[in-house]
This record gives sequence, structure tokens and C-alpha cells, in this order.
Amino acid sequence: MTKNSNRLYQRAQRHIPAGVNSPVRAFGGVGGHPRFIVRGQGARMQDADGQWLIDYVGSWGPLIVGHAHPEVVLAVQKAAADGLSFGAPTAAEIEVAELLCRLVPSMDMVRLVSSGTEATMSAIRLARGFTGRDLLIKFEGCYHGHSDSLLVKAGSGALTFGNPSSGGVPADLAQHTLVLDYNNTPQLAEAFAQHGDKIAAIIVEPVAGNMNLIAPDPVFLKAMRDLTTQHGALLIFDEVMTGFRVGLGSAQGLYGITPDLSTFGKVIGGGLPLAAFGGRRDIMQKIAPLGSVYQAGTLSGNPVAVAAGLATLKLAQAPDFYERLSNLTKTLCDGLVGAAENHGIAFAAQNIGGMFGLYFAEQCPSTYKEVMACDSAFFKRFFHAMLQSGHYFAPSAFEAGFVSAAHSTTDIAATIAAADAFFENEGTKKPR
Ligand SMILES: *Cc1c(COP(=O)(O)O)cnc(C)c1O
Repeated sequence: MTKNSNRLYQRAQRHIPAGVNSPVRAFGGVGGHPRFIVRGQGARMQDADGQWLIDYVGSWGPLIVGHAHPEVVLAVQKAAADGLSFGAPTAAEIEVAELLCRLVPSMDMVRLVSSGTEATMSAIRLARGFTGRDLLIKFEGCYHGHSDSLLVKAGSGALTFGNPSSGGVPADLAQHTLVLDYNNTPQLAEAFAQHGDKIAAIIVEPVAGNMNLIAPDPVFLKAMRDLTTQHGALLIFDEVMTGFRVGLGSAQGLYGITPDLSTFGKVIGGGLPLAAFGGRRDIMQKIAPLGSVYQAGTLSGNPVAVAAGLATLKLAQAPDFYERLSNLTKTLCDGLVGAAENHGIAFAAQNIGGMFGLYFAEQCPSTYKEVMACDSAFFKRFFHAMLQSGHYFAPSAFEAGFVSAAHSTTDIAATIAAADAFFENEGTKKPR
């Protein structure tokens, strides 16, 4: 039953482009109409027609302790009762800053903002201001929010400058971004050999989570650190997704690579708009009003968002929190792979901490090209079958999935059983 969702979707489209406030919500990647959600509780959310769905999207990452965790809700209620916004500093902001600097290896100083897009945009401006250089390196398939410098795709051939990947982005601006292949270390070395003295920074998802999930080759991460250091460029880890998702030290803690700057969002706001960028003290001191790089925000460090973030990060610091989350996520991946194997379906899955990738392919991909070669028609059938049976995966084959601490082994087992039924049905289909 999707009568109410469908009716809301029709109504939404009259005054909201495609009926959604962020594109992937529109189900363009899988076909059909989006479910409208009325409430969330723990691992589940309920749609407008009353169906409860086990949620593997978690608001695209923030909900690491699940929906409406009582301690997070209480913290938000308390903060709200004391005033929604002041535009003046509060003690709770210091607490977040101290916590981030204690838990994140590279962080000496941090500034709070309201979205991941703002965090990456500001970190890039800071890197350019600090180095006095313009050129930025990013990798195809990595997403860093929707600011102009970042909506760029590879030019024709490797090592040519980028082209806008969105209308409204000046070609002149795209010329300052070099788009390379993720996990291609020789290509990266070649880019530095050619342009090293012009490169302000590399920005990278240390685990790629916006082209499905791609695990980094540790050699690739290490090369980035070495090359940027040798050439006087900065290394920016965009940990908006991986931050407090793959471990308490985030991806930089997990892989033992210390970037110069990093960006956070998603989990650090626990479901409210809070994000951050920070890193080396000498770099962060270039930010206004200490330095010449301008950055500001009316609602930056908002007390209600800060309260939600602090309550979430407090729960995430419980002993064994990430070990349990990672094991749970691995149980899901292994179970799905086992079910597919039983029915002769080409399928692979992997997790890093509480994030996972599912692939309709023989093996987990390690490049953008390999991800693109996965069977997306198969994914669409999987997505709709799972949704119908009450399991909400991201409505796109090119997104990572998320498990929360509120998911139980029973939830995971139910999802594996539903997938098994789907795979069985697919496996018995006659080849066309
Ligand atoms: C989600 C995401 C962003 C953008 O964050 P918003 O809060 O949506 O602006 C940036 N970088 C990465 C790696 C992300 O996953």
C-alpha cells in the first residue's frame, strides 16, 4: 500500500521541484515513487501508509544511534527550551570542539558550520588561501557537496582539467579542478610531477561512499600524504560520511594517515544540521577574524544542533560501540552474500565499520569503472522487492548503506531472510 505516499508525492511536485528537497530522494535511480515518512523509532521508520521499514539509510548517515534515540531527543528538548539560537558563543560549542580535537588525530582547531557542503567549501577556500595556489585535485565518483569547485567531472583524458558536471558552474572555475581516478596511484604521482607547484590541495573521501562503497588502497592514501607533503600542497580528508561512522578516530584513525584538514558532518550532528572543518593550527589560524580567509554563518554552532551532536557522540563513545556496530554490519553483508551464493546470484558485499556496499557483481569493485559495471537493473529489482517486504535501502545503486546501533541481530536476520526469498525467486527465473 502506497496510496498516501503517492498522493503526497503528487501534491509535493506542484510546488517543490520533483517533489523533493534533495535529488536522490526522488527515486530516479530505481524508478517508482518515494515513500513519505511520518516517524522513526530505533532501526525503523514508518511511512505515510503505516508500513514500518527497517532503515539502512539512516538519513544518509547521521543516525548512527538510530531514530529518535531517547537521550538525543532529551538533549534537543532541553537545548530548545533554553533558546533556539543566539548568534553569540556558547559553552556547548567549546565542548564539541574539545571533543573533536581529542578524538580526531589531525584536529588542533575546528570551526562549526551547518552542512557538509559548507565544510568542504570552506576547507578548500582555506587550503587555497593558505598555499596561495588555485589548483584542486578531486577523484571521479567522490562527492564533496554541491559547491561550484566540486561539481566537476574529468576532462577528456586523464590529467586534463575538469568540466562542469552541473549547469550553472562556470567553465573557468572547473579549470581549477583536476579530476583523477580513485585508487590510481601512478596517475596521482604523474599529476604531481606535471603540476606539483600549482596544487593547493587534494580533497578525497578516505573511504569512498558516494559511488556505492569503494575501499581505499592503503598505498593510494599513503601516496597522497607523501606527495602533498613533498610539493607543499595540503591533504583534505572529507570525512563528512566516514567521520565517527567507520570508527571513533574516523577514517584517518583507521588507516593511520593524518591529513592537514578534514571535514565532518552527518554523524556529528546526530540528525540535525551540524558540520565542521578543522585541522592544523597554523592553517586554521588563517580563518577570519584571525586571518584573511573569510568564512561565517548565522546559524553556525547552533545550540540545538550542538546538543544533538554531543548526545550522539557521547553514545558513540560507549565501550565496544564500533566493534559491535562493525560486527553487526558484517553479519548483514556476509548473510546477504551467503543467500545470493545459495541461489547462484553474482553478488558481493563489504563493510567498513558501520557503512556497507552491496554490488551485483562477482567481486567488490575497487574503481569507479568497476562500480559502474555492476548490474543496476538487478539492483532495482532487489531494491523494490526489499522495500515491499519492509527493508529500506538507499534508492540508488551508487550509495553506501548504513547500520545503526539500534539495529538488532533479529532485524539483520529478517533482512537476510527477505533477501534470500528475493534471490531464490531470481535464481529460478528462466534465462531469457
Ligand atoms: C554528504 C556528504 C557531503 C555533503 O554534506 P551535506 O551536509 O549534504 O551538504 C560532503 N561530503 C561527503 C563525503 C558526503 O558524504
